[in-house]
Amino acid sequence: MNNQYKRTLVTTALPYANGPVHLGHLAGVYLPADIYVRYKRLQGEDIIHIGGSDEHGVPITITADNEGISPQEVVDRYHRMNLDAFERCGISFDCYGRTSSGRHRDTAQEFFREINAKDIFVKKKERHFFDPEKERFLSDRYVTGTCPICSYPEANGDQCEQCGTHLSPRELINPKSKLSDKVPELRETLHWYFPLGRFQERLDSYVQSHEEDWRPNVVNYTRTWLKQGLADRAITRDLHWGVPVPVQSSEAAGKVLYVWFDAVLGYISFTREWAEKEGSPDLWKEYWQSPESRIIHFIGKDNVVFHTLMFPAILMAWNEGRKDGIYSLADNVPASEFMNFEGRKFSKSRNYAVYLGEFLDRFPADTLRYSIAMNYPENKDSDFSWLDFQNRTNGELADTLGNFFKRSIDFTKAKFNGEIPCDCSDDDWNALGIDWKKSFEKLENAYNRFHFRDAAALTMQIARSANRFLTESEPWKEIKTSPAAAARTMALSVNLCHTLAVAWYPVIPHTSNRMYAMLGFDQTLDEAIRTGRVSWDMAMKPQLGKGHRLSGGSDILFRKVEDRDIAPELEKIERLLAEVEKKEADGDQTASIKPEISFDDFQKIDLRVATVTDCEKVKKTDKLLKLQVKLGSGHRQVLAGIARSYEPEDLIGKQVVLVANLAERKIRGEHSQGMILAAEGNDGKLHLVEVGGSDVNGKTVQ
Ligand SMILES: [Zn+2]
Repeated sequence: MNNQYKRTLVTTALPYANGPVHLGHLAGVYLPADIYVRYKRLQGEDIIHIGGSDEHGVPITITADNEGISPQEVVDRYHRMNLDAFERCGISFDCYGRTSSGRHRDTAQEFFREINAKDIFVKKKERHFFDPEKERFLSDRYVTGTCPICSYPEANGDQCEQCGTHLSPRELINPKSKLSDKVPELRETLHWYFPLGRFQERLDSYVQSHEEDWRPNVVNYTRTWLKQGLADRAITRDLHWGVPVPVQSSEAAGKVLYVWFDAVLGYISFTREWAEKEGSPDLWKEYWQSPESRIIHFIGKDNVVFHTLMFPAILMAWNEGRKDGIYSLADNVPASEFMNFEGRKFSKSRNYAVYLGEFLDRFPADTLRYSIAMNYPENKDSDFSWLDFQNRTNGELADTLGNFFKRSIDFTKAKFNGEIPCDCSDDDWNALGIDWKKSFEKLENAYNRFHFRDAAALTMQIARSANRFLTESEPWKEIKTSPAAAARTMALSVNLCHTLAVAWYPVIPHTSNRMYAMLGFDQTLDEAIRTGRVSWDMAMKPQLGKGHRLSGGSDILFRKVEDRDIAPELEKIERLLAEVEKKEADGDQTASIKPEISFDDFQKIDLRVATVTDCEKVKKTDKLLKLQVKLGSGHRQVLAGIARSYEPEDLIGKQVVLVANLAERKIRGEHSQGMILAAEGNDGKLHLVEVGGSDVNGKTVQ
């Protein structure tokens, strides 16, 4: 880690403007980034937070086609919806841009031109599916057909919804165009590829140099890719929605930049946009092109290699041979694991989610921020549940922090006329039972190392100590026996309130602002931090002296979450879970019986007993196993989508049923010579049809 930096640029993964953001997104990316940025602002550091909507790509055009509106209308809707939800949640972006903007188009095209001029791209002629009726090339998602793995008849060209296998359109059986239902033709088209392999060595040493400071999951995942060797990656598509390929020739007509190339450049174009708004158009260079700056990308684990390999490679390609305008590479890429929801993965397609905007219609942002910070999926998947949310809000925020704050303010108002009755001595402050130096060192360390759950828990520790101090001092008794002792207790308590207002700011900023206002300040806490009037270090020492006046108001910081508040949510979960489970269970049964075939047709299928001799997982997939089987005196290689149901070594020696005369197919670049029969059990796992007993290898099954 470079500790000599002068300024920091934080970016957050661009949410795809084809749907609302849900709590899983918030937990993995936006909340941790916001906590970090707010902490650094409180430390007085120069830091900006850049984010925005990813507005290009095929799923958006599909939504537009389905709804009969333009892609622009789709992205306008979700851009507004997500920006609004983020604002209400207090995610403090310095700029929240859009990849459909002119500034972004210019930036992305500038990158393409620069790299193209250096002849780094590779051009390849290839055959893609083309819809002859609509006269359009078909992106993977626009092709549908039967899955070669599980025979699901409506698999997408990129993935089968039923078995989850990633596919390419040409692997589908009986492919069809989604636009016209017609059988697509293969036509030749030209595409630009980015040769990632050319940067392999440079990427290797880049990753090596961060081995110590990056999270182990980030390093390991990136290394897996590096070990497999980096292949060329297409950066253009035949599509009408996106940044046009900036080449003045007919071969670029109708082509746009592929979103993986386009979207990451949004970080740069949005920073430029921010600089323009600041009235200093070159200011962005100080963040992107200065060795004194530091760049941090907050992302989810599904985005790691785009940020540790692909984006750095694009920047390396830009930097190649240049003397100025050199881009810096990210200093850290804190990728989170996933946060699940009531024990299951969030799923937009199954509507199993809580959307951020909907949540904030019902509950205050800070209760969510706190609850999620305490469940931050830092190095393993975590879980959000309504009961945990209720317990944390009531037991921790309301009963500990809220209760302490209210008692301190109310008692000072009632007995000391709303004024701090005396100064706090250092000795008294240090005798509160809080090791100020040690706890703040721990807190700073937690924030700097992205341990946000620790940071929230440590801050709650301070609130607990404060609450205990007030309870044990019993100022309501002291006031009768020794008013001076009560005065001392309240001076300390109100100063602890100030400490907590400042220390909680990164995690629950709305509450901190309210606390600050009730402590009697006219300026908001946000403003006080921006102008340098309040800083992190001030939380360690008493700041409010004798005579400081509290404001007139005092309301409770947190309303408790009652059972009746979450009852509808729990009911909804039950309903959603039932629907999800039904869908999963129905997967096979409701797939209606296929059209009748004749006995002769059936006779064409040659089913044989084959024996598994060897088996391994197929790289980069979590569903596929590669089996070697013996069939009579011959050998076959067969791919089967059963990796989630069987360990490779369990299969060796088994006698299975093979469709022996199925045309050979290529799946994930591997040959598959036949298909093995399996049935899905109620446990959701696939069970192979096995032939027990003696060795009957090669026999016909009928
Ligand atoms: Zn399938």
